[in-house]
Amino acid sequence: MADREQDNPLAGAALDTLAVRAGHVRTAEGEHGEPLFLTSSYVFASAEEAAARFSGEQPGNVYSRYTNPTVRTFEERIAALEGAEQAVATASGMAAILSTCVALLKAGDHVVCSRDVFGTTTVLMDKYLGKFGVDSTFVPVTDLEQWRAAMRPETKILFLETPSNPLNEVADIQALAKLAHDHGAWLVVDNCLCTPALQLPLKLGADLVVHSATKYLDGQGRCLGGVVCGRRELVNEVLSFIRTAGPSMSPFNAWVFLKGLETLRLRMDAHSVSALSLAKWLQQQPTVEKVFYAGLPDHPGHELAAKQQRGFGGVLSFRVKGGREQAWQVIDSTRILSLTANLGDAKTTIVHPATTTHGRLSDEQKTASGITENLIRIAVGLEDIEDIKADLQRGLSAI
Ligand SMILES: *Cc1c(COP(=O)(O)O)cnc(C)c1O
Repeated sequence: MADREQDNPLAGAALDTLAVRAGHVRTAEGEHGEPLFLTSSYVFASAEEAAARFSGEQPGNVYSRYTNPTVRTFEERIAALEGAEQAVATASGMAAILSTCVALLKAGDHVVCSRDVFGTTTVLMDKYLGKFGVDSTFVPVTDLEQWRAAMRPETKILFLETPSNPLNEVADIQALAKLAHDHGAWLVVDNCLCTPALQLPLKLGADLVVHSATKYLDGQGRCLGGVVCGRRELVNEVLSFIRTAGPSMSPFNAWVFLKGLETLRLRMDAHSVSALSLAKWLQQQPTVEKVFYAGLPDHPGHELAAKQQRGFGGVLSFRVKGGREQAWQVIDSTRILSLTANLGDAKTTIVHPATTTHGRLSDEQKTASGITENLIRIAVGLEDIEDIKADLQRGLSAI
């Protein structure tokens, strides 16, 4: 038994196998499912052992802000999926991004960030990192020249999401990794929309991948979490900050995410198939002006997405003919879709970005990012897509 574990039967295993099995070392109880260790601290056999654990001389658990076996299983599994040397789990996606920035940056450093990242990420960089003397420049994710022009000698991190939300703009990860490295900076990719089932940024040269596990890693809208994956020396810096500052992942949430990961590929493939079907259907609706989905051959990011992704994911957006009134009318006439800003759920969600997720942008910023009043975003879930089309049809034919 011990030998079976030691010679790592999962070495070289495929993603589907790792998603189901990586990271779980069976305890003496012989459990088949991954155990949930709901404990804040751990007991020592003797004062001497306690001293050795605290000094780090003897490996082992001390306190769950530091390590927890269930959280470790999740970290090892996601590291295996992303092809990372190491991963560290956090309480939320924002905690992963914050911890990465605080651990790797200091006052005087500079970040170049893609303009259309998750809104809260923009606030974090702009307002909070700015407060501590870290300057940020925001650039369109597809425009390599603007990335290049934004570089300064003190640039330490290039941060991006690809494909972007909600317009599905696609960044060239390989080219941006090269740009970062030529300037002695790190490329950090928020891989939330694709997950490792569809995109492996580290293989394309990124230094770190961050996730909001809240989205597709769970996939069922149950709890918040995040993770940072990458090279050991960088992840260790982030780990050290997390242990000190405390945004660690709850063991219960780690256990839920482990169950979510088991079906990751199946779900991402199903989301992708349904989203493409919906995108094509939307293109044929007379009251739809334009559809944004990188899976469509006429999307400007299609070719690049087809090269660097395994699939196109579940998020798409479209413009209806008209303005806010018509967009709201379509949203309000749906009865199955959930009107919520979340994405990465088995349940299909619909939202009006201009007045919700992107509501805090100025009119100028909205125009630059293509967030028009007639834009609707859908994160396609796992329902039968024909029912989703029928639910949208009512509103679309009424405007
Ligand atoms: C939701 C989201 C986040 C933030 O994650 P939380 O778990 O809500 O903190 C970060 N990046 C992207 C792309 C997201 O969609």
